[in-house]
Amino acid sequence: MNAQEQRPLFIILLGPPGAGKGTQARRLAETLGLPHISSGDLFREHLKKQTPLGQLAQQYMAKGELVPDEVTIGMVRERLAQPDAQQGAILDGFPRTPAQAEALDALLAERRPRVVVPYIRVPEDELVARLSGRLTCRAHGHIFHVRYNPPKQPGVCDYDGSELYQREDDKPETVRRRIQVYQTQTAPLIDYYRQRGLLVEVNGNAPMDQVTQALLDAVRGAGA
Ligand code: AMP
Repeated sequence: MNAQEQRPLFIILLGPPGAGKGTQARRLAETLGLPHISSGDLFREHLKKQTPLGQLAQQYMAKGELVPDEVTIGMVRERLAQPDAQQGAILDGFPRTPAQAEALDALLAERRPRVVVPYIRVPEDELVARLSGRLTCRAHGHIFHVRYNPPKQPGVCDYDGSELYQREDDKPETVRRRIQVYQTQTAPLIDYYRQRGLLVEVNGNAPMDQVTQALLDAVRGAGA
């Protein structure tokens, strides 16, 4: 292993809701042997356990709004401190605001990480179709789609047999709000990372395997 490879690798997946970040993050995590850290999944775990953090987050998630920065940053800071994240991670859904991006820079600075930021581009009309047909597994958040990626048995997760459900915030009114929130609060991160020379654009409007390959190429091409 050379010195470059000993530095932890953080892959920050950027892209609108429905771009395929969750699906692709799982695939990258498996291929690269890094943990998949999804802030949305962490909030949903808290909600399932009915912790105070989960109850607070729910008020924002139900409306398609962002959970306040301090709360989100605190939760991700704890997750990044776990032993399995010392070699790096695939970040999915975090950061989502400039304040979160700055906090992440500060959190990781000491680790001298290699950072790659793939930006998964998908046209907006495609996003609504993807999110409104999305099915999520109750036990582990595996993702399917009624048309584009149906489970083998309707309503049942292929991987763990648990029930598939439609996320409350995947209903049409909330989907539209989430896309607006993305445009105003998260899209500025594209420039934030482009200016730092970390951004790599990937076409997300392609078959899933092709997107995975493009992401792996982007990670390797970035020298990471
Ligand atoms: P996701 O699973 O990434 O689509 O996230 C679902 C919801 O969780 C979002 O619509 C927000 O309400 C909340 N959420 C997830 N990640 C963040 C974040 N980084 N900052 C603020 N809110 C978040």
